[in-house]
Amino acid sequence: MTMRSRGCSPSSRRFVLDSCLPVTSFEIHFPSPISRARALRFSNKKTNPHATQADDLIRNDPNLNHEYLPIKGLAEYTTAAQKLIIGAQSPAIAENRVSTFQTISGTGAVHLGALFLSKFHPTRPTLYLSNPTWANHHQIFTNVGFSLANYPYFDPKTKGLDFNGLLSTLRSAPKGSIILLHACAHNPTGVDLTQEQWKEVAVVMAERAHFPFFDCAYQGFASGDLSRDAWAIRYFIEQGFELCIAQSFAKNFGLYGERTGAFHFVSAPGPEASQSAAHVASQLAILQRSEISNPPAYGARIASRVLNDPELFAQWEEDLRTMSGRIAEMRKGLRERLEAKGTPGSWVHITDQIGMFSFTGLTEAQVKVLREKWHVYMV
Ligand code: PLP
Repeated sequence: MTMRSRGCSPSSRRFVLDSCLPVTSFEIHFPSPISRARALRFSNKKTNPHATQADDLIRNDPNLNHEYLPIKGLAEYTTAAQKLIIGAQSPAIAENRVSTFQTISGTGAVHLGALFLSKFHPTRPTLYLSNPTWANHHQIFTNVGFSLANYPYFDPKTKGLDFNGLLSTLRSAPKGSIILLHACAHNPTGVDLTQEQWKEVAVVMAERAHFPFFDCAYQGFASGDLSRDAWAIRYFIEQGFELCIAQSFAKNFGLYGERTGAFHFVSAPGPEASQSAAHVASQLAILQRSEISNPPAYGARIASRVLNDPELFAQWEEDLRTMSGRIAEMRKGLRERLEAKGTPGSWVHITDQIGMFSFTGLTEAQVKVLREKWHVYMV
């Protein structure tokens, strides 16, 4: 586990426009399979199998070229990405009502969805973000003209979910609001909803006709199980919601710099569904054309190789289990050591939270002491 400092040193303060508050969360970090693979490749040692095999297959393919991809992206990639997140057996896929576009990673997927909704949502309602959320959400949605509001999420007292606060805000939000939901491994708190809680959220959102916008940047990283981490998305689709999904392969494939993601718009079921999906796709194509023309090829080729090859896919799943298992082990170790030292307070939240992020529950004053006295930095 490394704890990284970000932008709060005296020298960097000069360039920061906002005040730089100490942060009270940390990010558990270690090389991704692919960066690990790359590092090992340079030292000529045995490399991570799924990443390098895919890489080698692509490099040695005599048909490799540098032509533009289609505006929608690499077809075998978008099809596989869609199945991965929605589920291959999803009625939405069978009914031909999912429009999928390859994007500039998860950020590009959130942006494409935001832009689409800002242009085509009939009323452009208020968009609700969890408090707190990934900081970039605010910027991405305000950039395209959305008014934002928050729904309560993290409860500093329990260091867990403020579920009552969340539900009551969803109940009182104007009908038809857009609600941004983290599908799993919530950034930055590491606090996720249980399946029972997701079901209750779905009931309230259906009653209030809210529109779900799922952001899924960590599929497979939370539980190590790709289906389990996509459970909420699949459940909402089963319940008949029209919704959209931003999908990133940055973390789970270690394709950070290759900018590999996808945006999916799932039209509501019904006789007009596939026609409506075709209309959505044609508008998305116009937006994509004006924004990036054609998405980048290399990351999509790597992901596509792995997603479409049963052997490489099985290796990737194994890597995900290893990575998420290691995160869970580190959480367990941290909690055990804190408890063994008799550190005041409860540390159960360290193991209750999931994924790369954790809200420690430390106060600003405690974080300042850690930073100034012990040079322990947290992001
Ligand atoms: N959404 C969330 C919640 C994230 O945490 C991140 C990355 O940290 C992203 C989206 C986008 O990541 P990327 O653009 O690297 O795929």
